Amino acid sequence: MASVNWPLDYNEIKPFYDRVDQLIGIFGTNEGLENDPDGIFLPPPKPRLHELFIKNAATQAGVRVIPSRLSILTQPLPGNSERGSCQFCAQCARNCSYYKADFSSPNVLIYPAMKTGNIDIISNAMAREVLTDREGLATGISYVSKEDNQEYQVSGSVVILAASACESARLLLNSKSQRHPNGLANNSNVVGKYLHDSTGAALGGYLPSPLLVVNVTMKTVWVVCTFIRPGGWITKNSISLVVITSNTGVEWDNLLMVSILALKT
Ligand SMILES: Cc1cc2nc3c(=O)[nH]c(=O)nc-3n(C[C@H](O)[C@H](O)[C@H](O)COP(=O)(O)OP(=O)(O)OC[C@H]3O[C@@H](n4cnc5c(N)ncnc54)[C@H](O)[C@@H]3O)c2cc1C
Repeated sequence: MASVNWPLDYNEIKPFYDRVDQLIGIFGTNEGLENDPDGIFLPPPKPRLHELFIKNAATQAGVRVIPSRLSILTQPLPGNSERGSCQFCAQCARNCSYYKADFSSPNVLIYPAMKTGNIDIISNAMAREVLTDREGLATGISYVSKEDNQEYQVSGSVVILAASACESARLLLNSKSQRHPNGLANNSNVVGKYLHDSTGAALGGYLPSPLLVVNVTMKTVWVVCTFIRPGGWITKNSISLVVITSNTGVEWDNLLMVSILALKT
């Protein structure tokens, strides 16, 4: 079935992706894959035990395995002294407020923008409508303050709607005027229709092998238990042989217990 092509191609937006990579910091690898375009990446963390298992099996099955790409600083971001690098505590979901090594809009974008003094932030405000002039061009926003329930307006030469997919569509539909009786940017009458959520699938499995011997040059091994979340696997101090045993029978989608016996040489 023939379909309409996108009006932009990847090469046109790549410079902007490159700027975002450098601004927020992404780890990953350049692999030359068409569907996973290369970028400007920090080095990825070392693979963890279960990842090595998966890579090993997938490679044998002819499936390519590459490191994921995440906005976590594995090294200090060049030219940015405000953020540190990841300490692999695996608590990214709690917001990395100390090292600021994990992406969050406050740490990475809003606080730095506030430091420039060139921004006014109006919080506790719900945008209600995009205001337009006689030509139908956007001139500002009307919003309702959650503090006093009153409606206010702000104007701007450029208005960017970034209230996520559904709410941005709702605001466009809410922005009716003589020029835009159907809502803003809705000549096609498809704004707010054909919304599609991303579909997902989960996969679970059991580690087949209870014992793996890894020869590494490191000092102490202090990881005894690891959750499957971004994080490193083993670190530091002087031990040259590590025997890693993994408990079998644990559903690894939730928790993978990896017991590590360190043998001092
Ligand atoms: C649980 C969960 C896990 C996810 N995990 C991943 C992941 O691992 N990888 C990935 O790539 N994506 C993930 N996503 C999807 C990703 O988070 C979204 O696609 C992305 O955040 C959308 O960005 P956005 O800027 O369009 O909207 P948002 O990040 O939703 O930002 C919209 C902002 O607008 C504000 N807002 C809304 N309405 C109004 C209004 N009327 N007036 C004023 N402000 C308003 C909201 O408060 C919000 O701050 C996940 C999403 C969820 C819910």
